[in-house]
Amino acid sequence: MDTHKNLQGTFSFEFFPPNTPAGVEKLRLTTRHLAGLKPAFFSVTFGAGGSTRERTLGTVLDIRAQGYPAAPHISCIASTRDSVREMLDRYRQSGIRHLVALRGDLPSGLATAGEFRYASELVAFIRKEFGQQFRIEVAAYPEYHPQARSAQEDLANFRRKVEAGADSAITQYFYNADAYFHFVDQCAAMGITIPIVPGIMPIGRFSQLARFSDACGAEIPRWIRKKLEGYVDDTASIRAFGLDVVCRLCEKLLANGAPGLHFYTLNQAELSAAIWQRLGL
Ligand SMILES: Cc1cc2nc3c(=O)[nH]c(=O)nc-3n(C[C@H](O)[C@H](O)[C@H](O)COP(=O)(O)OP(=O)(O)OC[C@H]3O[C@@H](n4cnc5c(N)ncnc54)[C@H](O)[C@@H]3O)c2cc1C
Repeated sequence: MDTHKNLQGTFSFEFFPPNTPAGVEKLRLTTRHLAGLKPAFFSVTFGAGGSTRERTLGTVLDIRAQGYPAAPHISCIASTRDSVREMLDRYRQSGIRHLVALRGDLPSGLATAGEFRYASELVAFIRKEFGQQFRIEVAAYPEYHPQARSAQEDLANFRRKVEAGADSAITQYFYNADAYFHFVDQCAAMGITIPIVPGIMPIGRFSQLARFSDACGAEIPRWIRKKLEGYVDDTASIRAFGLDVVCRLCEKLLANGAPGLHFYTLNQAELSAAIWQRLGL
């Protein structure tokens, strides 16, 4: 039975644009595999400063040519209004009507911040220049953005993006469901009603996960970290434990009203598909 069609919510997968012909071929296989699960859409990241602009667009067009819905990300840091407008025009001319709009992080060694400071300015710019032609997703941080001066200010800044015209949000990944529920409750208390879809990071390799988490401020709870560290190089145990942890997290999120799930796949089908199947999506 295809339960996915009856499920309330948006289930999606995120890729990064591959940079080798072999990576492109592998992503095609990954896409085909995951498309069989009937996600609402795939999204493709965008290197800050426009470093992947051609590959992001190329990857989105490739997924769409295979017959599946795909949304590019676009970041505004280190960019001019003209360059962002040009990119959005290309998206529109390619038939794209769905975006993930971000500030991005300044590439190391790049001195200029460009003409946008925050993602809220990008969202406002898209609405001003392109009206309602794009559905706009923005980022949300249940454990708060690492550069935020305070949790309260980060929430207020999130509201700016919503007021600028975001249609929905995808969160940074987290392993503590309470952080998400608290964030969503705070948003509701501020009158924010857009869907806030949890971002889910499957657990594959501990060293990689620890590196990402240090960079983006997503907490790996001590008990999970200790357990993963203890497995050392035992990949099978890491994956089995990770699958249990992440599936329990997803079940809790969905059972308590999360409006879908967005999987950070790192271009690998296996772990996300295993979670999806175990959840019966
Ligand atoms: C779902 C998702 C997808 C992502 N995809 C990409 C991608 O494709 N490419 C990429 O480069 N990065 C991506 N990122 C990472 C993201 O670019 C970084 O987390 C970045 O540091 C912040 O981006 P943002 O859009 O959340 O920024 P913003 O919403 O602008 O927030 C950034 C910081 O500025 C603060 N702030 C916002 N407005 C104001 C204001 N008016 N005054 C003072 N402070 C303010 C916020 O509190 C926060 O601390 C993604 C993140 C998520 C969660």
